[in-house]
Amino acid sequence: MIKIDDRKIKAFSTIKRKHEEWYENNIYSNLKKSIDDLEKYSHHDKNLEVYVKILKKIEKRSKEYVTDKKFLKIFYHEAFQEWITNSSKKSISKLEKLFQRLNIPEYSKYLPHKIFNYDQFTKGDKNWGRHQLLNMLGIEVCPYCQRNYITNYETNDGLKKTTADLDHFYPKSLFPFLALSLYNFIPSCQVCNSRFKLDKKVYKKKLLVIYPYSESFEEYNVKFQVSSEEIINNLLNESFDFYVRFNIPHILEIKKRDRVLSSINMFGLDLVYKKSHNNYIRNMLKNIEYYPDTHIKDICKILNGDQKRIYINKVKELALKPYLFKHENNEPLGKLTKDILNQFTIK
Ligand SMILES: [Zn+2]
Repeated sequence: MIKIDDRKIKAFSTIKRKHEEWYENNIYSNLKKSIDDLEKYSHHDKNLEVYVKILKKIEKRSKEYVTDKKFLKIFYHEAFQEWITNSSKKSISKLEKLFQRLNIPEYSKYLPHKIFNYDQFTKGDKNWGRHQLLNMLGIEVCPYCQRNYITNYETNDGLKKTTADLDHFYPKSLFPFLALSLYNFIPSCQVCNSRFKLDKKVYKKKLLVIYPYSESFEEYNVKFQVSSEEIINNLLNESFDFYVRFNIPHILEIKKRDRVLSSINMFGLDLVYKKSHNNYIRNMLKNIEYYPDTHIKDICKILNGDQKRIYINKVKELALKPYLFKHENNEPLGKLTKDILNQFTIK
């Protein structure tokens, strides 16, 4: 779980501006009209009154509603959530039933997912939409797993495509008011978004995960680790197995700890990291710790010289270089690399 630091994304102010413009031109006027239309009925029903009140609150925030991070928390309507979402695909929400009961004509356009219409954003226009957002964010590795690249590319016909999913941190099926909020969008790989992160699983059990725009494993000192004994045995004898585990500090505040555990569980990080990268770890440690000594012996033989420590250190430095800043450069397996190197005090 790595952090998305919006201050480090050069285009972020442009992204905000474009997103606000798009929202103003495509959504905001519909929102205002929905409020006007629904107000005519709101005195008929208390719940409808509450719904209109929420829409008005959102309208008051104007275009900043979709780009200001603090509104994510304000509009995280847990109490209201059950009322506006359907319990299954076949059923309809209480809100929809209410619209029907009040005989509101063409009522479906007033449902939250129709007002905050994510499909419209997915299609986008020539200036702004899902694709332009992913392109401008420039995030190249999935922040949830840090294993898979997410890539924007152009086809031979000039069509812009991406291998990234745009995950809604607060699922739009459960939090439709947040369906278009910029800080609710997390570019991620398909494995994390579609295979592991299931809306109902998380939020029914209130299993909140780490929020990449403000938290990370690094920040909470959560580390990958292997057993030193196991790995040394493996370096000597490859048939000896070893496992990658998570080390979670005990001092971590209970809520943060819960989010860390939920994240590991939700994205199956303990499973996908457990053994999948053992070859990578083994090769890395061999490249850094074993080969330089052998290489330097060979070089010294050729040069007919001494095996001076200075040469050995230089070759070691060169061998280490490709691994050193993987995490800082946000390359796949960056944190795993950093933690294992630290564990073996290789710097
Ligand atoms: Zn991922």
